[in-house]
Amino acid sequence: MEYNPSIRRTPIYDIMPPVNEDGAYEGDQQVMTYDRIKAPESGEKISFSNGVMQTPDNPILLFIEGDGIGYDIMTASKRIWDAAVAKAYGGKRQVSWMEVYAGEKAAGLYDGDYMPEETFDAFREYKVGIKGPLTTPVGGGFRSLNVTLRQVLDLYSCVRPVRWYAGVPSPLKQPEDVDVVIFRENTEDTYAGIEYESGTEENKKLADFLKNELGATNFFEDAGLGIKPISPFGSKRLIRAAIQYAIDRKRKSVTLVHKGNIQKFTEGAFQRWGYELACEEFPEQTISWDEVAANHGGNVPNGKILIQDTIADIMFQKMLLRPREHDVIATTNLNGDYLSDALAAEVGGVGIAPGANIGDEIALFEATHGTAPKYTNKDMVNPGSLLFSGVMMLEHLDWFEAADMITRAYEKTIDQRYVTYDFARQMENAAKVATSEFATRIIENMDRV
Ligand code: NAP
Repeated sequence: MEYNPSIRRTPIYDIMPPVNEDGAYEGDQQVMTYDRIKAPESGEKISFSNGVMQTPDNPILLFIEGDGIGYDIMTASKRIWDAAVAKAYGGKRQVSWMEVYAGEKAAGLYDGDYMPEETFDAFREYKVGIKGPLTTPVGGGFRSLNVTLRQVLDLYSCVRPVRWYAGVPSPLKQPEDVDVVIFRENTEDTYAGIEYESGTEENKKLADFLKNELGATNFFEDAGLGIKPISPFGSKRLIRAAIQYAIDRKRKSVTLVHKGNIQKFTEGAFQRWGYELACEEFPEQTISWDEVAANHGGNVPNGKILIQDTIADIMFQKMLLRPREHDVIATTNLNGDYLSDALAAEVGGVGIAPGANIGDEIALFEATHGTAPKYTNKDMVNPGSLLFSGVMMLEHLDWFEAADMITRAYEKTIDQRYVTYDFARQMENAAKVATSEFATRIIENMDRV
């Protein structure tokens, strides 16, 4: 089959900014100038030294407001983040916000361009930011603005912590048992977009190649065809990030979730590469389940992180019946997509589930729900998903005191039964408050926790 560059996912070397004579990325060397983006009056860039992030006390963080309910939840959440940083550090630390654009707001500012190039440049230069939900324009040439951001910036780990906050309505009897962090591979799998529509010339070419060259005959004439690329490079960097997270956050296990019993050379290989990586790169910190069973009587030795694996379909049952057995989860793109929303539903739904897309240096935190257009500018939706994505962002900066303060004040506010409409309809004796008032109550509660 002929190599077709248009169906290839953009590899790292195509999307990095230009390199100067010294081999350094230009974005690191010079002050970029922007057309519509305005730098804040104060603040410093986050930088990297030998792969380690250096966070100044007054970092410049990027935000994309988002469409639909984006304005309401971003306004409320920024008030909460800023208040927590001010209270936790007594003015010693402070965020300087810099607005960058995508979606409908960008289209208004950049002559109909929903995804301006300078937004990517700003992320390359400033490294860390947060976004509200975006409408993908129908027929705008994008599969999705969110997928474009992840792929162009090579944000290969989609990180979704799923835990329960006291008082939040849940369908489980013991929602407190759910406390996992999902690392979903963000760039490969069926999401790479290599698909050939039934009845097209390309589809026929591929079908002929599969039948005549490879002897694959077990599919119907005119079947739509999709390719599922899963590579050692893509799998290992995701699993590496998951294991490193487990080490840094003192988690107990990493579960590789896959469908390798059926899809042996993609999902099965993901599992195999995961065990290989743990063994080669983290031999001191990790131990596989086979070794625990063979040499340690089924008990994980103290200080070791257990590496285990589970078939994807049974993982859904396990996370309903015995969620305590899992901690950090590393999985492929499609499994991770299903699993993230299903697990979020166990602890309050997508209105509260936070998320982040993280690459080697750049991190983009995001609300996981959509733009909920019918609630635009009604000041009524739950800011929880964006708010806790911001909590993840504070933790990413190592600003744990501010992050914890928000979590505790949030729990106190729910405990007082002040909630937005979505929780109010599931809770008895709850007072329904506006997004802005919910934020005010959280900020007031920071002094009480
Ligand atoms: P949605 O915007 O997530 O909304 C679906 C429903 O979820 C809402 O009607 C609402 O349910 C509930 N909901 C969502 N966010 C909430 C919040 N903050 N607080 C309380 N409830 C919330 O999904 P959609 O209607 O399928 O998609 C709308 C647009 O969003 C589309 O253009 C889609 O492309 C885009 N989208 C963007 C992202 C993203 O940027 N990451 C993700 C998904 C979809 P009730 O009506 O029952 O109250």
